[in-house]
Amino acid sequence: MNYPQSFIDLVECFKRLPGIGSKSAERLAYHVLSMDKEYVQEFSKVLSHFQDNIHYCQKCGHICENNICEICQDETRDQSTICVVESPKDVFAMEKVKEYHGLYHVLHGTISMIDGKTIEDLNINTLFDRIDDQVKEVIIATNPTREGETTALFLAKLLSKKNVTVTRIANGLPIGSNIDYADELTLLKSLEGRKKI
Ligand SMILES: [Zn+2]
Repeated sequence: MNYPQSFIDLVECFKRLPGIGSKSAERLAYHVLSMDKEYVQEFSKVLSHFQDNIHYCQKCGHICENNICEICQDETRDQSTICVVESPKDVFAMEKVKEYHGLYHVLHGTISMIDGKTIEDLNINTLFDRIDDQVKEVIIATNPTREGETTALFLAKLLSKKNVTVTRIANGLPIGSNIDYADELTLLKSLEGRKKI
């Protein structure tokens, strides 16, 4: 005997989430079965509200509820420095380092042979549009993984055509690690020890 169709539909939806296999998806569907009607309604409302209201900033690619994020709108921030990161998670991690007051640019990924991702698949055109006379330094803070390093080198090469200093965060972070898992002190040291590339 098969599961009822509505149950199967929900399981299929859960299975599309990262890290959720068939068993976990079924477990979650059973859990929804036991949830209060009000909670399920609230949950679906929040989900749909999230989809309608969370966008990527048109300038830097960070997540926000307006066209332009709070960081890009903040004129008190150092407009001469742009820190390039892989994902919005990294912006939140870098923001914990209170000493950084510049702007960001989110690539939404890295160059990856395995996933077939090239430089064109990244949020890169808007970065080049942003580099004007005001911008003096671009700090490349992609993760210290093979993909992150490849992306950093590629970006540095492309940016060498622009009149801007390009730096790479220092190797204080363990190889293969992610910026959003690093503690604030490690991130600060890595930022302070950045080198020209
Ligand atoms: Zn922004």
